[in-house]
Amino acid sequence: MQLLEERIKADGRVLGDSVLKVDNFLTHQVDYKLMKEIGKQFAETFADAGITKVVTIEASGIAPAVYVAEALDVPMIFAKKSKNITMNEELLTAEVYSFTKQITSTVSISRKFLSPDDKVLIIDDFLANGQAALGLIKIIKEVGADIEGVGIVIEKSFQDGRKSLEDAGYKVVSLARVAKFEDGQVVFAQADA
Ligand code: 5GP
Repeated sequence: MQLLEERIKADGRVLGDSVLKVDNFLTHQVDYKLMKEIGKQFAETFADAGITKVVTIEASGIAPAVYVAEALDVPMIFAKKSKNITMNEELLTAEVYSFTKQITSTVSISRKFLSPDDKVLIIDDFLANGQAALGLIKIIKEVGADIEGVGIVIEKSFQDGRKSLEDAGYKVVSLARVAKFEDGQVVFAQADA
Protein backbone atom coordinates (compact mmCIF):
# COMPACT_ATOMS: atom_id res chain seq x y z
CA MET A 1 0.00 0.00 0.00
CA GLN A 2 1.81 3.02 -1.33
CA LEU A 3 0.33 5.54 1.09
CA LEU A 4 1.51 3.46 4.03
CA GLU A 5 5.02 2.95 2.62
CA GLU A 6 5.35 6.69 2.05
CA ARG A 7 4.27 7.37 5.63
CA ILE A 8 6.74 4.82 7.00
CA LYS A 9 9.52 6.45 4.93
CA ALA A 10 8.57 9.90 6.19
CA ASP A 11 7.89 9.16 9.86
CA GLY A 12 9.25 5.71 10.73
CA ARG A 13 12.38 5.49 12.86
CA VAL A 14 14.64 2.46 12.81
CA LEU A 15 15.75 1.36 16.28
CA GLY A 16 18.69 -1.02 16.44
CA ASP A 17 18.59 -3.74 13.81
CA SER A 18 15.09 -5.11 14.15
CA VAL A 19 12.61 -2.54 15.47
CA LEU A 20 10.67 0.12 13.63
CA LYS A 21 9.11 2.94 15.62
CA VAL A 22 5.92 4.37 14.11
CA ASP A 23 4.47 6.07 17.15
CA ASN A 24 3.33 9.20 15.37
CA PHE A 25 0.75 7.47 13.20
CA LEU A 26 0.11 3.92 14.43
CA THR A 27 1.31 2.78 17.85
CA HIS A 28 0.77 5.84 20.06
CA GLN A 29 -0.60 8.84 18.18
CA VAL A 30 -3.03 7.51 15.57
CA ASP A 31 -3.68 8.97 12.11
CA TYR A 32 -7.33 8.00 11.66
CA LYS A 33 -7.34 8.96 7.98
CA LEU A 34 -4.55 6.49 7.28
CA MET A 35 -6.30 3.89 9.47
CA LYS A 36 -9.46 4.38 7.43
CA GLU A 37 -7.55 3.70 4.20
CA ILE A 38 -5.98 0.63 5.80
CA GLY A 39 -9.45 -0.53 6.84
CA LYS A 40 -10.76 -0.11 3.29
CA GLN A 41 -7.80 -1.99 1.79
CA PHE A 42 -8.23 -5.02 4.05
CA ALA A 43 -12.00 -4.97 3.53
CA GLU A 44 -11.46 -5.02 -0.23
CA THR A 45 -8.93 -7.85 -0.03
CA PHE A 46 -11.20 -10.00 2.15
CA ALA A 47 -14.50 -8.90 0.56
CA ASP A 48 -15.39 -12.43 -0.59
CA ALA A 49 -14.32 -14.24 2.57
CA GLY A 50 -17.57 -13.77 4.48
CA ILE A 51 -15.81 -12.31 7.52
CA THR A 52 -18.05 -12.07 10.59
CA LYS A 53 -15.52 -10.85 13.21
CA VAL A 54 -12.24 -8.96 13.28
CA VAL A 55 -9.90 -10.03 16.09
CA THR A 56 -6.78 -8.25 17.30
CA ILE A 57 -4.64 -7.90 20.42
CA GLU A 58 -4.29 -4.83 22.61
CA ALA A 59 -3.00 -2.22 22.40
CA SER A 60 -1.62 -1.23 19.00
CA GLY A 61 -3.72 -3.60 16.92
CA ILE A 62 -6.91 -1.89 18.03
CA ALA A 63 -6.65 1.24 15.87
CA PRO A 64 -6.28 -0.50 12.50
CA ALA A 65 -8.65 -3.33 13.51
CA VAL A 66 -11.52 -1.02 14.35
CA TYR A 67 -11.34 0.58 10.90
CA VAL A 68 -11.20 -2.84 9.22
CA ALA A 69 -14.29 -3.79 11.23
CA GLU A 70 -16.02 -0.59 10.17
CA ALA A 71 -15.24 -1.22 6.50
CA LEU A 72 -16.49 -4.83 6.74
CA ASP A 73 -19.39 -3.79 8.99
CA VAL A 74 -18.67 -6.47 11.61
CA PRO A 75 -17.68 -6.35 15.31
CA MET A 76 -14.05 -6.02 16.38
CA ILE A 77 -12.79 -7.97 19.41
CA PHE A 78 -9.43 -7.34 21.03
CA ALA A 79 -7.66 -9.88 23.21
CA LYS A 80 -6.93 -8.39 26.62
CA LYS A 81 -3.56 -8.61 28.26
CA SER A 82 -4.69 -8.30 31.89
CA LYS A 83 -7.71 -9.72 33.60
CA ASN A 84 -9.99 -7.45 35.60
CA ILE A 85 -12.85 -8.09 38.02
CA THR A 86 -15.52 -7.45 35.42
CA MET A 87 -14.25 -10.38 33.37
CA ASN A 88 -16.25 -13.05 35.17
CA GLU A 89 -17.32 -15.10 32.16
CA GLU A 90 -15.54 -18.04 30.63
CA LEU A 91 -12.27 -16.87 29.11
CA LEU A 92 -10.27 -18.31 26.25
CA THR A 93 -6.57 -17.74 26.87
CA ALA A 94 -3.16 -18.07 25.25
CA GLU A 95 0.38 -17.29 26.34
CA VAL A 96 2.00 -14.68 24.10
CA TYR A 97 5.64 -13.63 24.14
CA SER A 98 5.91 -9.94 23.34
CA PHE A 99 8.67 -9.08 20.88
CA THR A 100 8.89 -5.46 22.03
CA LYS A 101 8.29 -5.92 25.77
CA GLN A 102 10.24 -9.18 25.98
CA ILE A 103 7.81 -10.69 28.46
CA THR A 104 5.22 -13.44 28.21
CA SER A 105 1.68 -12.49 29.06
CA THR A 106 -1.62 -14.31 29.15
CA VAL A 107 -4.06 -12.81 26.67
CA SER A 108 -7.77 -13.54 26.81
CA ILE A 109 -11.07 -13.18 24.99
CA SER A 110 -14.48 -13.92 26.53
CA ARG A 111 -15.91 -17.03 24.94
CA LYS A 112 -19.29 -15.30 24.50
CA PHE A 113 -17.85 -13.06 21.74
CA LEU A 114 -16.88 -15.93 19.42
CA SER A 115 -18.93 -18.81 18.03
CA PRO A 116 -18.09 -21.87 15.91
CA ASP A 117 -19.94 -20.21 13.00
CA ASP A 118 -17.62 -17.20 12.93
CA LYS A 119 -15.25 -16.47 10.08
CA VAL A 120 -12.46 -14.45 11.60
CA LEU A 121 -9.97 -12.01 10.16
CA ILE A 122 -7.00 -11.42 12.48
CA ILE A 123 -5.47 -7.95 12.27
CA ASP A 124 -2.28 -6.68 13.90
CA ASP A 125 -0.04 -3.65 13.60
CA PHE A 126 3.24 -5.58 13.19
CA LEU A 127 4.34 -9.08 12.28
CA ALA A 128 7.73 -10.05 13.68
CA ASN A 129 8.00 -13.69 14.82
CA GLY A 130 4.28 -14.38 14.73
CA GLN A 131 3.75 -14.96 18.44
CA ALA A 132 0.81 -12.56 18.79
CA ALA A 133 -1.00 -13.97 15.73
CA LEU A 134 -0.33 -17.58 16.78
CA GLY A 135 -1.75 -16.82 20.25
CA LEU A 136 -4.91 -15.39 18.68
CA ILE A 137 -5.14 -18.40 16.35
CA LYS A 138 -5.00 -20.76 19.35
CA ILE A 139 -7.87 -18.89 21.04
CA ILE A 140 -10.04 -18.78 17.90
CA LYS A 141 -9.43 -22.47 17.13
CA GLU A 142 -10.54 -23.39 20.65
CA VAL A 143 -14.04 -22.13 19.80
CA GLY A 144 -14.00 -23.91 16.44
CA ALA A 145 -14.36 -20.72 14.38
CA ASP A 146 -12.72 -20.43 10.96
CA ILE A 147 -9.68 -18.20 10.45
CA GLU A 148 -9.87 -16.66 6.99
CA GLY A 149 -6.58 -14.83 7.16
CA VAL A 150 -4.11 -12.66 9.03
CA GLY A 151 -3.95 -9.00 7.99
CA ILE A 152 -0.80 -7.15 8.98
CA VAL A 153 -0.12 -3.44 8.66
CA ILE A 154 3.70 -3.73 8.75
CA GLU A 155 5.45 -7.04 8.25
CA LYS A 156 9.15 -7.36 8.95
CA SER A 157 9.88 -9.97 6.32
CA PHE A 158 13.37 -10.65 7.67
CA GLN A 159 11.80 -12.23 10.76
CA ASP A 160 10.04 -15.61 10.94
CA GLY A 161 6.39 -14.62 11.45
CA ARG A 162 5.10 -15.01 7.89
CA LYS A 163 6.78 -18.38 7.47
CA SER A 164 5.36 -19.70 10.76
CA LEU A 165 1.84 -18.60 9.84
CA GLU A 166 2.01 -19.85 6.26
CA ASP A 167 3.53 -23.15 7.37
CA ALA A 168 0.56 -23.51 9.71
CA GLY A 169 -1.74 -23.01 6.69
CA TYR A 170 -2.87 -19.41 7.14
CA LYS A 171 -3.14 -16.71 4.51
CA VAL A 172 -1.06 -13.63 5.38
CA VAL A 173 -1.80 -10.25 3.80
CA SER A 174 0.62 -7.44 4.67
CA LEU A 175 0.14 -3.86 3.50
CA ALA A 176 3.83 -3.03 3.93
CA ARG A 177 6.67 -5.54 3.92
CA VAL A 178 10.03 -4.49 5.26
CA ALA A 179 12.79 -6.48 3.55
CA LYS A 180 15.57 -4.98 5.66
CA PHE A 181 16.90 -1.93 7.41
CA GLU A 182 19.91 -0.36 5.70
CA ASP A 183 21.81 2.60 7.18
CA GLY A 184 18.80 3.46 9.32
CA GLN A 185 16.46 3.42 6.28
CA VAL A 186 13.62 1.05 5.50
CA VAL A 187 13.94 -1.10 2.37
CA PHE A 188 10.58 -2.50 1.24
CA ALA A 189 9.71 -5.80 -0.40
CA GLN A 190 6.63 -6.11 -2.64
CA ALA A 191 3.55 -5.78 -0.43
CA ASP A 192 0.50 -8.08 -0.71
CA ALA A 193 -2.00 -5.31 -1.24
P1 5GP B 1 5.30 -11.03 16.92
O1 5GP B 1 4.26 -11.50 17.88
O2 5GP B 1 4.90 -11.24 15.48
O3 5GP B 1 6.66 -11.53 17.22
O4 5GP B 1 5.41 -9.45 17.11
C1 5GP B 1 4.30 -8.67 16.80
C2 5GP B 1 3.90 -7.80 17.95
O5 5GP B 1 5.05 -7.18 18.54
C3 5GP B 1 3.01 -6.69 17.46
O6 5GP B 1 1.74 -6.84 18.07
C4 5GP B 1 3.68 -5.40 17.88
O7 5GP B 1 2.97 -4.83 18.94
C5 5GP B 1 5.05 -5.78 18.37
N1 5GP B 1 6.12 -5.46 17.42
C6 5GP B 1 6.91 -6.34 16.75
N2 5GP B 1 7.86 -5.72 16.03
C7 5GP B 1 7.66 -4.41 16.21
C8 5GP B 1 8.34 -3.24 15.71
O8 5GP B 1 9.31 -3.28 14.95
N3 5GP B 1 7.83 -2.04 16.12
C9 5GP B 1 6.77 -1.93 16.95
N4 5GP B 1 6.35 -0.70 17.27
N5 5GP B 1 6.13 -3.01 17.46
C10 5GP B 1 6.55 -4.23 17.08
